[in-house]
Amino acid sequence: MSKSQGTFIEINLSSLKHNFDYIKSLISKKTKVLAVVKAYAYGSDPVKIAAFLEKLKVDYFAVAYTSEAVKLREFGIKKPVLVFHPQAENLSTIIKHNLIPTLYSFKMLEFFKDTVSRKKVKNYPVHLKINTGLNRTGFSTKDVNRLINSINNDNFIKVDGIYSHLSSSEDKLEFDFTQKQISLFTKTFKKIIKNISDKPLVHICNTSGVINFPDAHFDMVRCGIGIYGFSNKLTKSKSLIPVVSLRSSISQIHLINKGESVGYNRSYIAETTKKIGTIPLGHADGISRLYGNNNGFVYIKNKKAPIIGNVCMDMLMVDISKINCEEGDEVIIFNEKYSAEELAESVGTISYELLTALSHRIERKFIN
Ligand SMILES: *Cc1c(COP(=O)(O)O)cnc(C)c1O
Repeated sequence: MSKSQGTFIEINLSSLKHNFDYIKSLISKKTKVLAVVKAYAYGSDPVKIAAFLEKLKVDYFAVAYTSEAVKLREFGIKKPVLVFHPQAENLSTIIKHNLIPTLYSFKMLEFFKDTVSRKKVKNYPVHLKINTGLNRTGFSTKDVNRLINSINNDNFIKVDGIYSHLSSSEDKLEFDFTQKQISLFTKTFKKIIKNISDKPLVHICNTSGVINFPDAHFDMVRCGIGIYGFSNKLTKSKSLIPVVSLRSSISQIHLINKGESVGYNRSYIAETTKKIGTIPLGHADGISRLYGNNNGFVYIKNKKAPIIGNVCMDMLMVDISKINCEEGDEVIIFNEKYSAEELAESVGTISYELLTALSHRIERKFIN
């Protein structure tokens, strides 16, 4: 029994390898794997995770923003890094660090060609993003002729990839919509490829796409959440093992009488005598106030302890009246057994948000 370790995030690299191998087992040998390490590698640790995946021979990495990609390069990551949302002001940084920008509009395409020409570079690899219905970023499929003309007009860029993003790959009820996205994407990339000289990689699947749409893996799949062993509730796969667990310990125990309150604004009032545990984890660590007042919970000695009162900035309190435990005992917020998905659902969110909200203040420990 570990005593008084404070709060820490444990990252299990053997589980990471297991998930990576499992995802590879779902795709053909020819299909490449792009590991998404945006948002601090889903709250874990981007450089350590990327270095480990590089050893496992992952093909590509992707991040959301240029600054995230620069960190990977500064740490010595050598594999291609795709930036989903590079932003115009960062385009020369993209070239400086040999990163692959996503070009998703004519404005971005022109900005990028401008940057490339000023640097006297030619055939710089880019991925083109096509909007097939998510309506977030991407060229309209109506503009495909104009896009082809622009690609063929000069030799500033080389089309290394063409991709799109699914809106509902985890949702069986939206199966028809996803199929429509996939066929619109197929029609569009075929037309582009037929009319340009480059041989781009085409890709559309995120983790749930890999699991639910085996015919749409194309040349590469982009996996984030699955590599970390989590999922959407609707694509829960028993074969994935959560890589990240969040643990803490009980700092102090109070015995309170009927009518006494707990925490700020007295939002919890004891109806009977209660045993209350204080845990060094708060909203500044990424556990939102929404988890307070009996919504969220933690596990102590394999028993569920509801979070009572308001979550403070640095601490929260749980009801341990029915648990035989003492100060210093281990607290599990989530791990392989007690799922992050279930905790996230208790406040109407998804594991993605719970994980990526975990603050950098929490110590990360690696086990292999
Ligand atoms: C975040 C993201 C992914 C990864 O999705 P998961 O569901 O975590 O596998 C893939 N592609 C794009 C464009 C993304 O923004």
